[in-house]
Amino acid sequence: MAKSWTMNQPPSQSQTIPTPRRLLARVRDVMAGSGNPEERLNETVAIIAADAVAEVCSIYVLRAGEVLELFATEGLSPDAVHNTRLRVGEGLIGLIAAQARPMAFDDAPSHPDFVFREETGEEKYQSLMGVPIMRGGRVIGVIAVQNKTSRQYTEEEIETLQTVAMVVAELVSSGDLIARNEQLPADGNALLPLRIAGVGLNSGIGIGTAVSHHHEFHITNLVADDIEAEQERLRQAVKEMHGALDDLLDSTDINGAGEHRDILESYRMIAEDAGWFSRIDEAITTGLTAEAAVQKVQNEIRARMSQITDPYLRERIHDLDDLAGRLLQHLLGESTMAPDFPETGTVILIARNMGPAQLLDYDRSRLGGLVLEEGSATAHVTIVARALDIPVVGQVRDVLDKIETGDPVIVDGRNGQVFLRPGEEVQQRFQASLKNREKQLASYAQLRDLPAVTTDGVDIGLFINAGLLIDLPHIHETAADGVGLYRTEVPFMVRSDFPNVDDQTALYTKVIEQADGKPVTFRTLDIGGDKMLSYVGDSNEENPAMGWRAIRVSLDRPIMLRQQLRALIRAMAGRELRVMFPMIAEVYEFQQARKLLDKELERAKEREEAFPDVVKVGVMIEVPSLLLQLPQLLNRVDFISLGSNDLCQFLFAADRGNPQISERYDPLSPAILSLFSSLARQCDEAGVPFSLCGEMAASPLDAMALIGAGLRNLSMAPNAIGPVKAMVRSLSVEDLTGYMQTLYASPKHSLRGILHAFAKDHGVAV
Ligand code: PEP
Ligand code: MG
Repeated sequence: MAKSWTMNQPPSQSQTIPTPRRLLARVRDVMAGSGNPEERLNETVAIIAADAVAEVCSIYVLRAGEVLELFATEGLSPDAVHNTRLRVGEGLIGLIAAQARPMAFDDAPSHPDFVFREETGEEKYQSLMGVPIMRGGRVIGVIAVQNKTSRQYTEEEIETLQTVAMVVAELVSSGDLIARNEQLPADGNALLPLRIAGVGLNSGIGIGTAVSHHHEFHITNLVADDIEAEQERLRQAVKEMHGALDDLLDSTDINGAGEHRDILESYRMIAEDAGWFSRIDEAITTGLTAEAAVQKVQNEIRARMSQITDPYLRERIHDLDDLAGRLLQHLLGESTMAPDFPETGTVILIARNMGPAQLLDYDRSRLGGLVLEEGSATAHVTIVARALDIPVVGQVRDVLDKIETGDPVIVDGRNGQVFLRPGEEVQQRFQASLKNREKQLASYAQLRDLPAVTTDGVDIGLFINAGLLIDLPHIHETAADGVGLYRTEVPFMVRSDFPNVDDQTALYTKVIEQADGKPVTFRTLDIGGDKMLSYVGDSNEENPAMGWRAIRVSLDRPIMLRQQLRALIRAMAGRELRVMFPMIAEVYEFQQARKLLDKELERAKEREEAFPDVVKVGVMIEVPSLLLQLPQLLNRVDFISLGSNDLCQFLFAADRGNPQISERYDPLSPAILSLFSSLARQCDEAGVPFSLCGEMAASPLDAMALIGAGLRNLSMAPNAIGPVKAMVRSLSVEDLTGYMQTLYASPKHSLRGILHAFAKDHGVAV
């Protein structure tokens, strides 16, 4: 039989390339055979070298400390075995491991990364081709072949070696060759307590047992006996997966939540991607079983993921990774993809990253926290976790390597830190604050049906900020007065394409129906900045917060804004439409936006479509220049909402997303509070309702100061309603207002300390 690889040149077109199945079957037999693991590796390298017509075949295994050690070789000096070691990134073998992808070099010694190890005797070899041995998306070794001549390795040869690496991975990861815990990085000592800093993505404390989200399927049958039968199994599994996705789409609880449906639908679209399937199908033709072929493609996807920084692409690749997992589940006949939870107790989910729909796969009542190696404040999973009130810490480097399922973990979302295997004292400290928090929550629940009225009889409107449909039940749980800020961009962010007018109408209708008669203020799209939509341009701005965002995008893409307004008009037919525009910098800009709204209202009238009973139009004050046109503005708007997050960042010229300066300026400063007080007075005089929907409304002390400055309506995250209401019910506005007036002229950096002392002295619950 002709050799599959020739020595000096790639096979010619007329030469048929025998399938690598024979090689694969032989390697499988060796792997499954008797003999100690090292003997089996030795046999394997000999078989590969012969089949590949290579003078050398070597297997390197990753050991503790990110070191690749030569474990078996055919062709290099036997003395080099267990002596030759390369760090990941060192030499061509280290480069293949670092980049987690196959590489071929026809002139290896001239490559800048080449390092020569005398003990190997490899100076006589000119060409080298290597592939990573991967397991669960991580590199655990490298297989390489070398030739004396300058040889161009073909795609087929590289593919074949990759397929063989799948089989070898079984042995390497089995723990027979080196202990499993040695495959962890050096600082991943599984026994020591460890605190790892990350970024707090949702505050709150979670204490529980670690469960890795990444369910590793154990594939025992890697080599196909009958290719066609495997292809049929793949087709069948795909059909089942589509059926299961359809069921998920039809299930009642997902039906209630539009965004989740969108996400699942976009999964389905990806699931139907023909390119993805043909890659799996091709892997089967090289001799792998359907499940091994899916895992091979999944390995490649994960390796690609580690090299891509574009957040949108990462999300998409991540979806593919998730789908591969779902497909494996069907192929292996496993009932669920979610890992097993311990029988009782709270679970802290640990993941590299995850899709928002995946989070919903879990039993919410058991989830105490989420720890992500990746993750960002605007990632879809974070948005959903926030809506579910699950503490999240993201960007926790290598946490999956450092933790084992079953380890105790504490997630401190507020301070962006995670404690692995915490000591007794740390556990007690966090248990105490968790208990305190539970007690407080119970006391807030008792306030639910009591009015938010101060001790001197001033009514304070408390509203929630929302962005997902799953936020809306909070209106009723907290007995809030309505939604003060509905961030319409959030549902847009969890989709892969722009929703049309009908989709948007359906969504806004659901929002208003769920509000059940309480008012909802819809903010038009605030995209741009860190909330870029993949399907609306791609701006690489140096200063995105001050760039092409919010109303600027909407006015430049008037069709987009008009469609949104049309949907809002339709959804609010027979009701009150409350709409506000974000990031307005000048009255003229408001007028432009208002004109588009008027056009849509006229259009609806002309077509005799059902119409809102009342239309109220407002602006967010977020850009300081608008403050200089207040009289002209107040003549034209029905209400004003202060976006203190953006307004403060622009007033102080301090990036709100930069942790280095996040504490530098305090919104409870004389400058900000006196400004708000003057705004409140002018709005009152003009008879224009005035509220605030930035983060500061969520802190009882800050909310107290805002009320002292004259605000009577505050909109905040739903979990802040209880604490703020408790504060309101213990406050005398008259005392506070008078006191604050004496503070506005103060040259102090912050009034926080003084206001805190006031609250303490006057028994205000802050
Ligand atoms: C704000 O800027 O205060 C605000 C509420 O808008 P966002 O946080 O969505 O930018
Ligand atoms: Mg804003």
